[in-house]
Amino acid sequence: MKIACFQYQDQISIGQVSANGQEMTPFILSADQQALVATQGVQLIVELQSQGLPLPAQAKPIAMKDICLLAPIPRPRRNVFCVGKNYLDHVKEVQASKLGEAQGAMANLPKHPVVFSKVPESVIGPQAGIQNHGGVTQELDYEAELAIVIGRQGRAIQASDALDYVWGYTIINDISARDLQAKHVQFHIGKSLDTACPMGPYLVSKDELNAQKTQVKCWVNDELRQDASTELMIFDIPTIIANLSAGMTLYPGDVIATGTPSGVGVGFKPPRFLKKGDRIKIEIDGVGVLENPVV
Ligand code: MG
Repeated sequence: MKIACFQYQDQISIGQVSANGQEMTPFILSADQQALVATQGVQLIVELQSQGLPLPAQAKPIAMKDICLLAPIPRPRRNVFCVGKNYLDHVKEVQASKLGEAQGAMANLPKHPVVFSKVPESVIGPQAGIQNHGGVTQELDYEAELAIVIGRQGRAIQASDALDYVWGYTIINDISARDLQAKHVQFHIGKSLDTACPMGPYLVSKDELNAQKTQVKCWVNDELRQDASTELMIFDIPTIIANLSAGMTLYPGDVIATGTPSGVGVGFKPPRFLKKGDRIKIEIDGVGVLENPVV
């Protein structure tokens, strides 16, 4: 099942995407649900299912070409969790860069998952503009990532049970200001600028793909920059969930970006940072395509 948040005429709604991707079938929402949908999006569906409740009834389908997709969860309730340094070749490309120099020992191969977060207000949807923030950064970069969406509340989740707590997956572009990461050492400011968290195009339920063996690709202006299998993660999905939930409760709708493969702009010599007019397209097999321009 693919579920999405979208605008049709003047109304924001949520719906199910048809198998061929050509149609959207809106869910019929109560007044209370309609009041929340612009911020929570498909989190409403994830929560219903976590409580064992049935899906809402559905209206008649609308052609996808007539709607505008929004981020599936436009304003997550909590920060978007992100795993850093989770692909060996990406660890190496950062280590060999100016950012790696600034990070010192922090740039080394991690022994445990490196986790930071992005503020909920940084989330934008497909085709929305990524601000270039020319006044605060000269080193804006992209990171294509598979993101986990939690479907069930849990703490101290064992790795062997972790997939039972997953609702499904989406794509995150972990937009990063490398100069701010280097200057402030800790990642938060450099990862949480407004519009720095493109998300979408849908949430795809976990039964639709093997997320532990799927391909992540990223193009900048039609040039393929990133192309790797999620099999190459240093810490796999169950390990990430077990570590994150060890002492912190995870809730339905929590989003966890799982790290980026090599091929980001800071890894090139000389670096190739984003500029106004660039278009970044991320494709993850079984999940879809997320494309955004830099404005
Ligand atoms: Mg990242």
